[in-house]
Amino acid sequence: MKTRNLYIVTYGCQMNVYDSTCLEASMRKRGWNLAESQEGADFIFLNTCSIREKAARRVIGHLKRLKALKLKNPALILGVGGCVAEQEGRKLLDEVPWLNLVVGPGRLSEIPLLVENLTSDMPPIVLSGQAPLAQPEPPAQPGPALDSGQRDLSDFEEIDPRPAPIGSFLTIMTGCDNYCAYCVVPYLRGPERSRPREEVLAEARNLVSRGSVELTLLGQNVNSYGRAGHRGGEDFVDLLTEVSKIPNLLRLRFTTSHPKDFPPALVGLFGKLPSLCEHLHLPLQAGSDRILAAMGRRYDKNRYLSLVSALREACPDLALSTDVIVGFPGETEEEFLQTVDLLETVRFDFIFSFKYSDRPMTKANSLPGKIEENEKQRRLTHLQAVQKTITLEKHQALIGQSREVLVEGFGRKAGQLSGRTRDLKLVNFDGPASLMGRLATVTILEAWPVSLIGQLSSDRPSAPQNLN
Ligand code: SF4
Repeated sequence: MKTRNLYIVTYGCQMNVYDSTCLEASMRKRGWNLAESQEGADFIFLNTCSIREKAARRVIGHLKRLKALKLKNPALILGVGGCVAEQEGRKLLDEVPWLNLVVGPGRLSEIPLLVENLTSDMPPIVLSGQAPLAQPEPPAQPGPALDSGQRDLSDFEEIDPRPAPIGSFLTIMTGCDNYCAYCVVPYLRGPERSRPREEVLAEARNLVSRGSVELTLLGQNVNSYGRAGHRGGEDFVDLLTEVSKIPNLLRLRFTTSHPKDFPPALVGLFGKLPSLCEHLHLPLQAGSDRILAAMGRRYDKNRYLSLVSALREACPDLALSTDVIVGFPGETEEEFLQTVDLLETVRFDFIFSFKYSDRPMTKANSLPGKIEENEKQRRLTHLQAVQKTITLEKHQALIGQSREVLVEGFGRKAGQLSGRTRDLKLVNFDGPASLMGRLATVTILEAWPVSLIGQLSSDRPSAPQNLN
């Protein structure tokens, strides 16, 4: 039988990267190979994100460019998944009639079977919403009985002989119940659903046994893992503690955390679990209490600052990053400057900053007081300039210090390696390729706004870690 080739393009967040990995594993099991380019593919799948309007337009542009390929090869199956598929659904077919498959994120597990039975002359298939939940298994150990995940991971769970990436993502929950006024995620990804604890642990062990030395637990709001009707934030603390015990796991991270759901027990894990890295992404969004309330964030500036203090007390070396939105409807200049003030107070290590944009279905879409585009741009430029100075100062303070770097790739220059410190700083340095996937001790020599240049410490034993 002819081998069929799959080509996946992933847009947006780490959760999409994880979903694409699951889809790839499932398709491989059914005999598919990965194509090296779109031209060599029998099935092209765009796994999309629509959190920003610009991102959704990029996907449509990509689909339009694929028309030429479809004309050349009419048997090619074209599919769109992720949030753009959920949001636009059948409307996508008006703009891109050569599409064969439109599948929302909750129906991802149905793709392999669908594609196996689909030919390009059949009417397009559109699936949205959530796949029916499987009946939850009784927990194998005392602990919360959790919802079954929406994804059928039975294919993925089988021992995959291929090496896993040095750093792997692992989705522990999907969806969100928070309905922040600007955010489309709860409408597109559905309510929060946590994967069973034992399933997550089995997958974590599997990834480490195949060579991952760093795991990042993913969810729209990881802190509320397993919460529905069970033990509150303790479920996530318990999960994190169990994952951290996996032998040979050197680094553990998680994202994203909602500041309103951060129990003291979780704060206390920083500095206590040896593999839990000294970095936390803690979305702020705005520095004005009125704007935070209008956004529906359910914390205020003081609560956020108290949490930051508690975290820094538990772990003085903790690096913090955040998300900020400028130009939320009705945001005054003074309120915007309160956000700038908060950046200067907290001194985040880095930020992701965005101009507010209307998203369909959201509460903020219909709010009055929309800010002009050029004013939003001015605020964004101002904010980013302030943060750039802070980030650079923080980087400059590291010059002369030694840092543990996990080598994950090659730098732009020949002979250069690239990796991250435990606090997520990007470091490039000259070194042998044999260090790939290992820890190296590096002395920081130069600081730039987004990266550091280092030198492999001469006195360091490049001791092989206890890897598999
Ligand atoms: S917590 Fe708010 S911003 Fe984050 S995914 Fe949920 S609704 Fe969106």
